[in-house]
Amino acid sequence: MSSRPDTAVLKGLPVSPGCAAGAVYLFPKKPAGAGPEERTIAPELVGRELERLEKAREECVRDLDALSSSLGERLDLHDTRLFECHRMMLDDPLLIGEIRALVSEKGLNAEGAVHRAAEALRAKFEQMTEQYFRERVLDLDDVERRLLDRLSGTGSDVPVDMDGPAIVVADDLTPSETMRLPHAKVLGIATDRGSLTSHVALLARALGIPCVAGLGDMSTRVATGERILIDGAAGTVTLNPDESAERAFAESVARSAPAARPAVPPVAAGTLRDGGKVDLYVNMHEGMPPEAMKNSGARGIGLYRSEYLWIGRGTEPGEEEQYEAYRQAGLLANELAEGAPAVVRVLDIGGDKVAGGAGMHEVNPFLGNRSIRYLLSRPDVFRRQVRAILRASEGVNMKLMYPMISCMEEIDAANAIVEAEKKALVSAGAEYAADVEVGAMIEIPSAALIADAIARKVDFLSIGTNDLVQYTLAADRANEMVANLYQPLHPAVLKLVRMTIAAAKGRGIPVEVCGESASDPVTGVLWAAYGADALSMSPGYIPAMSKVLAALSREDLAGYASFADALPGTARASEILEALKERLAALVGIE
Ligand code: PEP
Ligand code: MG
Repeated sequence: MSSRPDTAVLKGLPVSPGCAAGAVYLFPKKPAGAGPEERTIAPELVGRELERLEKAREECVRDLDALSSSLGERLDLHDTRLFECHRMMLDDPLLIGEIRALVSEKGLNAEGAVHRAAEALRAKFEQMTEQYFRERVLDLDDVERRLLDRLSGTGSDVPVDMDGPAIVVADDLTPSETMRLPHAKVLGIATDRGSLTSHVALLARALGIPCVAGLGDMSTRVATGERILIDGAAGTVTLNPDESAERAFAESVARSAPAARPAVPPVAAGTLRDGGKVDLYVNMHEGMPPEAMKNSGARGIGLYRSEYLWIGRGTEPGEEEQYEAYRQAGLLANELAEGAPAVVRVLDIGGDKVAGGAGMHEVNPFLGNRSIRYLLSRPDVFRRQVRAILRASEGVNMKLMYPMISCMEEIDAANAIVEAEKKALVSAGAEYAADVEVGAMIEIPSAALIADAIARKVDFLSIGTNDLVQYTLAADRANEMVANLYQPLHPAVLKLVRMTIAAAKGRGIPVEVCGESASDPVTGVLWAAYGADALSMSPGYIPAMSKVLAALSREDLAGYASFADALPGTARASEILEALKERLAALVGIE
C-alpha cells in the first residue's frame, strides 16, 4: 500500500503577492564543481575539434538571438541588454581566442578548453581593479554552460524549457536567470534563499508574479511535476496539499483581492478622502514592461535604478546609450502624468549588486567602495552619466539623485561635478540642463542624522528604507538568516525616518520614500503620516496603496502619526506592527 506524503506548510518571506497552485518546475542549476571531462586529442584531430567548437559557438549566438526576440515579443521587453553581454563574450578574444588556443596549441578537447578558459577569466574578473558586477561572473557561467550544452549536443536552455505552466522552484535565481524564464508560463516563484529586496523579488514584483523567498531547503524537498500551493502575500508554500489544504487555499484565493493584476484606479492615485495628496510613483529599471507602470495609476517615476543598464554586461554603457535610456524614462513619466517627475538615480553599484570591481576583492563590500563612493573615485564615469541625464531632461521633468550619501564631503563633491556639467551644457546652448533638480538618498544612518545639513545642499530627499533598515540594524537585507531582525518598524528606524522627513520639511524641500517599505499599507501610510510627500514602489502595489489612501483624510494621517508616537517607548517592532495594523484597519476597514 503506498502512503501519501504528509502535507507540509513552509513559511518563507512574502516577496511578491498573489496565489498560485500548480506543478513544480525545479530550475536546473549547474552542479557545483562538476567540470567537464578534460583530455588531450591527437594532433590530426585538432582541425575537427576547432570546427566542432565553432559550430557550438554559432549555435549559441543563434540561441541568444532567439531568446532576445522571444523575450521582446512575450514581455514587451524592448530592452534585452542582459543578453548582449553574452553575445559579446561569444566574440571576445579573451574567452573565445583563449579556448581556440587551448585546442590548437595545447591539444585540449573543446569541452576541457571551454572550462579552463572560463575558469581563468573568472579568476581575472575577481582581481580586476575596475568595477565589475556579480552578474558579469554569472553571465560568464551562463556562456560557459551554453557552450558546453551545445558541444555535448544536449541543446541549450533557450528558453528555459517548461512543458506547461508551473511554479519555478530554485535555490536562488540571478537576475538573468529570472529574465530567461518563460514568464507566460511562470505561475509563481519559490526560492530557498533571497529576501524582500533581492533582485528576484524586485523582478517578480515588477512582472506581477507571486513569489516567496527564504524557504530554507525547499528546493531539495520537491521534484518537478509535484503539485504545490504558493501564497505570495502570506509567504507560504504548501507541499503535498491534501483535500482540506486545497479547499482552504481555494477559499483564501477567492477572498483575496486580485493584487497581481493592477487596474486603473477611479481617481488619481494617491488622492486622500478629503482631496489631499500623497503622490504615488513607481520604482523602475530597464527591461520593465511600460504597460505595468501605465496601468498602475502611478503619477511619476520616483526611482529609476540606472545600474540595470550595467547589469549583465559588466562594462559601462556609452553616453549615447545612457541618454536614450534616460530619455525613454523621462518620456514615460510624461505619459504617466503631464510633467510628472522621472528621478534618475546615478549608478548604485556595490553591496549586493557587485562582486568584484573598483580595487576589490573587498572583504566587506556593503561597507566598501560602492555607489556614490565609486562614482567619486571614477569622475570620468560619473561625468558621462551626469551629462547623459542632463541632456535627456529637455522638455521632461527629470531629476538626478545621489545614492548612499554618508557625509557632506560626498554631497559637496557630487554637487561640484553636477554643477560643472550643467555649466558646460548651458554654455553649449542646452539652457534646460540648469533646471534639473538634484536630490540625495537617505539610506545610511549617518545621513539621516545630518539630514538637515544635507537638505540645505539639495532640492529634495528620498529615503531608501531597504538600505536604511539594514545599516541601522546591522541585518543584511539579502540574508534570510537574519530576516527576523530586518524590521522596517524598528523604533530606531522610525526615529531616523521621522527625523529625515522633519529635516526636509524644515528646509522646505520635498521628501519621498522609495524603499520597499513604502508599498506596505501599514508602513507606507506611516511614512505619509510623518509627512512624506510621495511614496515610490513597484507598480503592482500602487492600486492597493491608492485604495487605502483614498479612505483616509489628512486628519486621519495626523492621528495615525500621533498614535505611533504615543506607543510605549519599550515597544518592539512586532508590537508596533500589530498596533498600527489594528489602527489602520479601524480607519479604513482593511483586514
Ligand atoms: C533603498 O535602499 O531603499 C533603495 C530604494 O535602493 P535599492 O533598493 O536600489 O538599494
Ligand atoms: Mg539602496
